[in-house]
Amino acid sequence: MKKKLKTFFWCFQLEIPFEIEESFLWKLETLGIQSFAIEFSPDKPSLKKISIWLHSSDWSNKDQIELNNSLLPLAKVFGLTLSSPIWQKVHEEDWSISWKKHWKPDPVGNNLLILPAWLETPKNHLKRKIIRIDPGSAFGTGTHPSTRLCLEALEKDPPIGLSVADLGCGSGILGLTALRLGAKKILAVDIDSLAISSTKKNYELNDFADDSLVVSKGSIEILSKQLKGELFDLLLCNILAPVIKELVPGFDDILKLDGRALLSGILVDQIEDLSLVLAEHGWKISTSSDKSNWSLIEIHRI
Ligand code: SAH
Repeated sequence: MKKKLKTFFWCFQLEIPFEIEESFLWKLETLGIQSFAIEFSPDKPSLKKISIWLHSSDWSNKDQIELNNSLLPLAKVFGLTLSSPIWQKVHEEDWSISWKKHWKPDPVGNNLLILPAWLETPKNHLKRKIIRIDPGSAFGTGTHPSTRLCLEALEKDPPIGLSVADLGCGSGILGLTALRLGAKKILAVDIDSLAISSTKKNYELNDFADDSLVVSKGSIEILSKQLKGELFDLLLCNILAPVIKELVPGFDDILKLDGRALLSGILVDQIEDLSLVLAEHGWKISTSSDKSNWSLIEIHRI
């Protein structure tokens, strides 16, 4: 009888410059890699440690070399280089524990806590508003500066009683935070099916009132279709600047006259160009904030 080969997981670890985190995560998504963790160490602010868990049966030596090679160009675009990754064997029974160990409760701003779904609220954070997230599925664990800027902006000006659109919802983190801060209703959309299932799962984890968040596959056209007469008070959109530029012409159809949008995922030097496109369509920037070369802008009608 043929002996069954014992399978195991590879834990692939790499330190990357923070500038490439977003493109790195998108690369993982296109490769169908869903089990990963990102760690930020305050003593190395310019780096993020990425750990990825890969099943040995899917990742031969050749695949591993291809993965290494496919990641190099991501850094090259920014004129940066990548350190060599470490590949470590992890036994099947240990891997889920090993994966979960990397996620910690993440306090954001003065009052929010992004809590990995399986953890208890730490005693020192009991007063914070909790958003439970099952990380490692879709983009949006709260660690990326562009997401953090949105969370902080929401906390600063809570969307109490507002109807909110979450365009490019990823894990659903922005819509869920808006709900936690008192929003009345969220419509969330994303072009990626993984994001849809992830947002649904995270919504269930958070015990909100039934149907306070509805998520559908698609983009801004689906948001307009689903509006039943009443436009949104607030649009949340954390996608990269070139995509936002394409979406700007549709903002008019979904936002109330006094509605506003928080746009993030924009590099600091892309603001000028984006503000021209916004002005062409009747929008002006009212405030902006930056974090590690990323900007968030808040816009109103001119
Ligand atoms: N809102 C989350 C996720 C942001 S990542 C956060 O702030 O962390 C950006 C998301 O936008 C991805 O899930 C991606 O699938 C989605 N996306 C990209 N282009 C899009 C488009 N044209 N319309 C809708 N969603 C889009």
